[in-house]
Amino acid sequence: MIRVNPQLKKEIERYGDFNANQCFSCGTCTALCPMGLKILPREIFRFSLLGSEEKLKEAEDAIYSCLLCRMCEANCPQGVKISENIRILRTYFTERFFKI
Ligand code: SF4
Ligand code: SF4
Repeated sequence: MIRVNPQLKKEIERYGDFNANQCFSCGTCTALCPMGLKILPREIFRFSLLGSEEKLKEAEDAIYSCLLCRMCEANCPQGVKISENIRILRTYFTERFFKI
């Protein structure tokens, strides 16, 4: 059973201007990513918006593999700040999972 955290989006938004809700899953970013990060960014953004913290945690490798090169962002038709959103997710991960 997948547990949902309805506060997840709000918790992530504490760390910056997270605008993943503008993504309409067109797939342009996935097609352009030089790292072949198929899960990034659209699926990860969806996990965040839907409160699926477990799925977000499973995507940890992809989140930290992103080069923040902005190749995807430059071509996003919705103006999603992809690299900034990834940076915000990394901060969230640090606070939520790695802080001692
Ligand atoms: S290019 Fe932009 S709108 Fe399209 S899936 Fe990626 S983040 Fe979403
Ligand atoms: S910023 Fe990250 S997700 Fe976007 S194209 Fe570069 S490596 Fe891929």
